[in-house]
Amino acid sequence: MGELQYQLDLLHAMNQKLTDNLEMYQVICEMSESIYVYCDFEHNKIEMVGQFDQFFPFPLVSMGDLEHIFEYVREEYAEQLRDVIYPEYAQKEHGSLECCLNRGSVWLRFESMLICDERTGRPKTKIIRINNISKAKMQNEELQYLAYYDLMTGMYNRNYFVSILSRWVQKAQEEKEIISLICIDIDDFKKINDGMGLVVGDELIQVFGQFLKEFAGEDIIVSHANNDVYYMAIYAPVGAHSTESITERINKRLEEPFKLTQGREIKFTVSMGIALYPESTQSAMELINCAEIIMLQAKMSGKNSIRYFESPVLEEFKEMIEIENQLKKAIRENKFELYFQPQFDSGSRKLRGAEALIRWWDDTGHMVSPAVFIPIAEESGMIVSIGDWVIDEAIRIYSVWQKKFDCTFIMSINISAIQYRKPDFVPNLVKILKKYNVDPKYIELEITETVLIKDFVEVVHQLRVLKEYGIKISLDDFGTGFSSLSYLKGLPIDTLKIDKSFVDTVLIDHSTKVITESIVSMVKKLGYETVAEGVETEEQYEYLKDIECDNIQGYLLGKPMPAKDMELVIERNQ
Ligand code: C2E
Ligand code: CA
Ligand code: CA
Repeated sequence: MGELQYQLDLLHAMNQKLTDNLEMYQVICEMSESIYVYCDFEHNKIEMVGQFDQFFPFPLVSMGDLEHIFEYVREEYAEQLRDVIYPEYAQKEHGSLECCLNRGSVWLRFESMLICDERTGRPKTKIIRINNISKAKMQNEELQYLAYYDLMTGMYNRNYFVSILSRWVQKAQEEKEIISLICIDIDDFKKINDGMGLVVGDELIQVFGQFLKEFAGEDIIVSHANNDVYYMAIYAPVGAHSTESITERINKRLEEPFKLTQGREIKFTVSMGIALYPESTQSAMELINCAEIIMLQAKMSGKNSIRYFESPVLEEFKEMIEIENQLKKAIRENKFELYFQPQFDSGSRKLRGAEALIRWWDDTGHMVSPAVFIPIAEESGMIVSIGDWVIDEAIRIYSVWQKKFDCTFIMSINISAIQYRKPDFVPNLVKILKKYNVDPKYIELEITETVLIKDFVEVVHQLRVLKEYGIKISLDDFGTGFSSLSYLKGLPIDTLKIDKSFVDTVLIDHSTKVITESIVSMVKKLGYETVAEGVETEEQYEYLKDIECDNIQGYLLGKPMPAKDMELVIERNQ
């Protein structure tokens, strides 16, 4: 009896524990967001925890009901899902699959586990767990989208383009194929943006991008790289997919305007740079660089054009980068010096002035010509700090000479367009003149026509301000730009420098002679002083004197020289 009571108590206790456990499991299952489907093979019965009906609107009672799940899943997942839901047929203990329902964009993860009878090996139970993973999937997709696509146009972005191109380059290496890379840039996009507004600019980028996307296919990828720049890569470019055929089609389309919203229409041109694998370079990144560089060159040489990359361009480019880096260092270490080239009155041969010309010796001790490094400094913006130094140094030296020689000749200083456009240019200049106590009438600024091309009105206004201060203005390199004599009229300048290219040929070429003579006589009528530069021979000198060119500058009378040597020239002249 005691034994039986003990057994009964024990059973009771175990039962209680089981109930407790069951409750605990239920709570756990309910708290979890998973759905558990518990299948009992022996009794063909299904137990379930979780909100199955949230995704599947049918009761799950017997094993046969599982079949209905497939009606709600996208077809392409059905076969794989079958293996997960029926692990007993797939003969797998575990299975799992992420799949999408055929309505909405709900993503579920199915996992299953099969338990077999140890003795007979027959399936006893299986548990299927279902989780809603839509949120994670969406985030992932969004991230993937951001990683591959450009938001504005929906085209491949630069990164993704580079990664595909890298793969293509490998493939092309194995298959000994060619890849053509076209860099396409909308001409004067800034003007469109400034003139018509950012919204129109953005729309144009989208619309043109859509057009370019039409070329995309198995062997053509198109990408929106940035701003108004697109890349297109063609694998094995032949026939209708040849570079020529495609660029032609692009240009043909550009003959017609593009339609934007609100009835707007816009017509524009593009500049294209083309680089080829393996001819131009062997790496994907460099291929892009080459196409970009050559596109920029196409742009600089007049836009609306196509250019092919040739290897020397890359060399030039590398050299340019090298000079740029060295220049930065030279600015930090103040490695510049000013040379001076005298200018003489053609009649009396008296010293009229000196042109300050910058000199720079690089690390190896070679003198780099300003004709080489000034354009690089202009492009990179470094000209501003270099130019500031030139102005300060030239005026400083002039003040030294004034004290030493009581001189009255003119100091000519070259000014780049970028420098001139800085709003604080005039105030700074005036400050420096005060600092060294130099009368502005002894200072002449040499500007080129490129200064005038942009904002003619604004520039003329600034020239007037300079004139009010008494500073002289000289128009440099006259004859090399658009050189229209008509715009000279009314320009507030004092001096006109006739370019060396005229002086070089004036005695050989009849038409140059006619032009030079008419320039000189007309300029004199306008009341400007003339300086001929690059005079190397006595014949040139005599001729220029005869046609009444006022001043002469050139190797014949003096090469550019250090300040010390220039002092000797000044002394000799007094
Ligand atoms: P530029 O202003 O036209 O200067 C005249 C150039 O012609 C100078 O070259 C001078 O040395 C050279 N030259 C003068 N007479 C003769 C001659 O008889 N025969 C020959 N073959 N050449 C002659 P440089 O000093 O090499 O300067 C080249 C250019 O660099 C200058 O042309 C100017 O555009 C620019 N540059 C020089 N210094 C400065 C500067 O301080 N600031 C800026 N912005 N540009 C500068
Ligand atoms: Ca000059
Ligand atoms: Ca010049």
